[in-house]
Amino acid sequence: MATAEREKMYECEVKRRRVKEGGGYEPFWKVKKVVDALADADTEFRCKDCGGEVKILGKTSKTGAAAFVEHKRPADAEFCPSGLAFKRATDGRESHASAHPVN
Ligand SMILES: [Zn+2]
Repeated sequence: MATAEREKMYECEVKRRRVKEGGGYEPFWKVKKVVDALADADTEFRCKDCGGEVKILGKTSKTGAAAFVEHKRPADAEFCPSGLAFKRATDGRESHASAHPVN
């Protein structure tokens, strides 16, 4: 049996704030490389394709290895267009957004 391949997504969305028309601020999600998000000390992340929760991995590894994210919920990976489980599925399923999106 082959070794389990890891789901590696090198881009994610980070929550930022911008000035709202008419005053105040509003949050929005911005696609960013995971390495850049860490360098910028972003704190809120989600999958850029399904909006599901992700966890950051690889940030403490040796130089040369880029940090990446993977889905926290297996169910997200099953139906996210970027999910490893989704890409491997052979049942012709259609992708959809996370049932538990980060807002
Ligand atoms: Zn996803």
